[in-house]
Amino acid sequence: MSSCIFCASPCPPKFDFVGGQIRKLSSGTHKNSSANSLSFKGDGVIAQQLQVIFILKDILKIGQDKLCEFLGSSGKLHPEYWISVCSSCQDAVELFYKTFKEVARLENKLNEYSYEFKRRIQNSKGDEGIGPTGMLWEAIRNEVLNGNQIINVIIMI
Ligand SMILES: [Zn+2]
Repeated sequence: MSSCIFCASPCPPKFDFVGGQIRKLSSGTHKNSSANSLSFKGDGVIAQQLQVIFILKDILKIGQDKLCEFLGSSGKLHPEYWISVCSSCQDAVELFYKTFKEVARLENKLNEYSYEFKRRIQNSKGDEGIGPTGMLWEAIRNEVLNGNQIINVIIMI
């Protein structure tokens, strides 16, 4: 019996040792075993491994060095064998994953808007250097065109 990595409640075993070999137990109908329910690409085993790495890296924010240390110290055991998640916490993981994907989608949207602002600057001309803010106006536009994104600064002004 293993324990949930989050709440430490007991989880049914996912593997067994048979003749010195690790044998994965059938998922059965227990919801706790539905670790592939996150929509990671690939087969079930890869999806479970990705979920474990997602839990360590994105949910628990474990740094890359420590993550490599944990993955390296597990020997021949794949990550899905040494991390268990109970059904209650699995629901929370799936909620986190949905939100994570939504944030990524919104970040892409913001990047598209930023790109559109930059494109407008690239495609427009004005009376450069004229007026009280002329020099600043030109400097900001040049900064953007030279690859330094200062779109946020422009919005704040
Ligand atoms: Zn739990």
